[in-house]
Amino acid sequence: SERPDVLRLDAVDVHYGGVQAVRGLTVSVAAGEVVTLLGGNGAGKTSTLSAISGLVRPSAGRITFEGQDITRAKPHEIVGRGLIHVPEGRRVFSRLSVHENLQLGGYLVRNAAELATRLDHVFAMLPRLAELRGQAAGSLSGGEQQMVAIGRALMAEPRLLVLDEPSMGLAPGMVATVMRLIQDIRDQGTAVLLVEQNTRAAMRVADRGYVLETGTCVAEGTVGELAGDPRVAEAYLGTA
Ligand code: ATP
Repeated sequence: SERPDVLRLDAVDVHYGGVQAVRGLTVSVAAGEVVTLLGGNGAGKTSTLSAISGLVRPSAGRITFEGQDITRAKPHEIVGRGLIHVPEGRRVFSRLSVHENLQLGGYLVRNAAELATRLDHVFAMLPRLAELRGQAAGSLSGGEQQMVAIGRALMAEPRLLVLDEPSMGLAPGMVATVMRLIQDIRDQGTAVLLVEQNTRAAMRVADRGYVLETGTCVAEGTVGELAGDPRVAEAYLGTA
């Protein structure tokens, strides 16, 4: 690729005691790309994201973000560099309003005018949240809560947004809305690493992908290449 890599994993292993969850994984995300990690339950997707965010330390390999080694960096240092992870299960602060949830995402912003500018920008990208701004986040639908979780991450103006199964449990119309939002985020210059079990949805929005099975990458390429790979089509698209 001509574009610089925002994120690189080189031969990363993750162990939990004696259990190896990720084996020799090499992944790159270039500026301007949506890259998806695909695979079934237990394939190692969440463990990979945890290693990237500093929540678990890889037992081998190297992770670099914008050219800096972050393999042993602490989670707050990684966040401070602009790598923001939205974990599975859209954890919003239920009793706080949408507006307050978003403000928390801008906690590193010291300047009130800058914070207000970022809020306006997030509300412009997610107009539904502007309508709901005074409501308790816990009273919203699952899809709306996912919007809050992503909007909160956008308040940090991430260089890389890491999303763990944002479509989980959402109605089909809402899945399409979330996927469109991911495209908008990419088009505004934020690279995205997207973990999904909804392979079809992920492949509609992603540029490239990696398929994981028991912690190992078994296929990688552009989404067109992956869709044309009979093993991928059979296992993940049901179309071989
Ligand atoms: P899912 O979508 O089900 O979360 P996944 O692809 O994200 O699947 P991981 O959650 O990364 O997969 O799990 C990979 C392997 O590591 C599995 O065998 C899992 O049981 C194991 N594992 C994950 N977390 C832990 C942990 N904290 N302690 C021990 N083993 C773990």
